[in-house]
Amino acid sequence: MFNALEPIQMSDPRAHIMPVYAPPEEAFVRGEGVRLYTEGGEEYLDFIAGIAVNALGHAHPQLVAALQEQAGKLWHLSNMFRVKAGEELADKMCARTFADRVFFTNSGTEAVECALKAARKYHWSKGNDDRIEFVTFTGAFHGRSLGAINAGGNPKYLEGFGPAIPGFNQIEWGDHDALKAAVTDKTCAVFVEPVQGEGGVRSMPEQCLTGLRELCDETGTLLIYDEVQCGMGRTGKLFAHEWAENAAPDIMCVAKGVGGGFPFGACLMTEEVGLPMQPGSHGSTYGGNPLAMAVGNVVWDIISDEAFLAEVRRVSGTVAQGLKSLADSHADKVNGVTGKGLLTGLELKAAPKPVQQACRDKNLLVGVAGNNVLRLAPPLVITDEDVRQAVSVMDEALSEWELEG
Ligand SMILES: *Cc1c(COP(=O)(O)O)cnc(C)c1O
Repeated sequence: MFNALEPIQMSDPRAHIMPVYAPPEEAFVRGEGVRLYTEGGEEYLDFIAGIAVNALGHAHPQLVAALQEQAGKLWHLSNMFRVKAGEELADKMCARTFADRVFFTNSGTEAVECALKAARKYHWSKGNDDRIEFVTFTGAFHGRSLGAINAGGNPKYLEGFGPAIPGFNQIEWGDHDALKAAVTDKTCAVFVEPVQGEGGVRSMPEQCLTGLRELCDETGTLLIYDEVQCGMGRTGKLFAHEWAENAAPDIMCVAKGVGGGFPFGACLMTEEVGLPMQPGSHGSTYGGNPLAMAVGNVVWDIISDEAFLAEVRRVSGTVAQGLKSLADSHADKVNGVTGKGLLTGLELKAAPKPVQQACRDKNLLVGVAGNNVLRLAPPLVITDEDVRQAVSVMDEALSEWELEG
């Protein structure tokens, strides 16, 4: 049964916004690096970065310059014409990854849709039109389109939106036997986030990714990674699956960090898998538009640099140490540290919202995930001093937090 929350007063300036989010009162009007500012000029330390989106922080001078320069030249063409900056970016992506083909999108969800369609079309093109089933994992999040909520399998997100779409088979995260049993000659692909974001900032062990690749090879199943949140330098490697040996996917979805805040995503795949995707198979009006491609090239050049990634790994160590010290000193309220690199968090012993709010009251922005995780996804350009400041605020917030019961 539908249960409306308290109706928003029509005098509220938010009254006409569909209330699928519940933002706090503060409104930010400006950002610089790791910091955000309200209208009144109050400063906040941003350790969530639009949920892993503002990978280079706010108002990065090179990104601003790239966008401004392109804005004065050309905004939109549609893919009926060549976008040279997109050709360049696709070249760079394919030179650096497993992929040979790239489809540009405007969001993570669209990258996921492209992946699901390409995977089914691949098997169909081989005459295996009964291989339609995707094996997914509990805690998954892949976006909000009908395809993506069915892939995500979260009952809360499916409720009220009609019958489940056939062909999605969700198994328990970490259940190897269930996985082996689930992958059959009807399986199209295994679809997984190497580090789950929304589901609770859970990292799949490296040997499991390698095992997954082997299982897929043995059974002729495709392996699809959703690296929308954990990719693009977030874990200290350009893509999270690169931590594992011999675990390259057949298809990979990216978005969030790749645009550094400009809406942009991509679906990457091997030549073999991409082969049946021909004129008419798929499309997007705005995907790969000149503005996105101008920004995307600069983000790619900065983050794919090995020295940049090494610095992300170094500062990730500082974050991990800080979180470990919080977990130790608040062992009565914290189960432990979770995640990988700069997609990390504290697993708490109760729902995390009060701690998130207490941090916000102290001008630190953090996120939540799963049932009990306080999530951090700061810009990749944080310094040790930013980390020290954030840890000290979380320390205060945890000290003040009164666990019920
Ligand atoms: C955010 C997210 C998506 C959806 O991306 P949108 O840009 O919101 O459509 C898909 N998969 C994962 C892992 C995500 O974190």
